[in-house]
Amino acid sequence: MRVAIVSVGDELLTGETVNTNAAWLGRQLRDRGVNVGRVTVIPDDQQEIARVVNEQHAAADAVIVTGGLGPTHDDRTVEGVAAAFGRSVEFHEAAREWIDSISEYAASDLVDGTAVLPTGARQLPNQVGVAPGFVVENCYVLPGVPEEMHQMFEEIAPEFVGEPTKVTVVEIAEPESALLERIEQLRTEFPVSVGSYPGDNVRIRIEGTEESAVEDAARWLRDRVQMPEDR
Ligand code: ATP
Ligand code: MG
Repeated sequence: MRVAIVSVGDELLTGETVNTNAAWLGRQLRDRGVNVGRVTVIPDDQQEIARVVNEQHAAADAVIVTGGLGPTHDDRTVEGVAAAFGRSVEFHEAAREWIDSISEYAASDLVDGTAVLPTGARQLPNQVGVAPGFVVENCYVLPGVPEEMHQMFEEIAPEFVGEPTKVTVVEIAEPESALLERIEQLRTEFPVSVGSYPGDNVRIRIEGTEESAVEDAARWLRDRVQMPEDR
């Protein structure tokens, strides 16, 4: 399963807010064996949201959008996602009933639009805040507030399933440039993906769906390099 993450928010582009939502979702999905193929950060702009969600929906099995879900003038995500699927927005009775049942205010007292969702959307109740999330086709739209987003993702997590992978990291006391040939050979001889992360020691990250292949690859590499404890 390949997922695209779309992070919406002007404040993410200016660096005022760090995009911790995409990092958190990336780890959650990785742990479920789901591949995140792309993360896109875009402003609170209806046309931009519509264009990018449409594009990413065509390229991935599912899209997760976060941010800009509230009903205030700077929150454009409901309209943008609706437009991406050629839908209009409408008052969502189930969302209003939910808001009425959980908050001390009636939905009618909240800013107009809190219970407005794309036509035909499935509502995702917000257990922490008020603005509901929703699902249209394979596009999951979650709030920007991290605690609200985390809680709502837990509810839909079972809908994200992939093949869990095994990961092993080998630390090597040689410069990265000296390892290129051995890493290339590792890549071709074993059904694993290999990442290289320089630092005091180079860290080679070996990942694959077959546990035995990952172990064999790690052993093959350890036998051919200088380990930190050999120094
Ligand atoms: P609300 O209904 O509260 O307005 P919302 O879904 O409209 O929620 P935003 O207005 O986009 O969300 O953002 C609410 C808060 O969450 C802001 O403080 C924002 O900085 C933070 N936030 C938004 N997106 C992210 C993100 N990708 N990573 C971390 N924090 C984020
Ligand atoms: Mg908002």
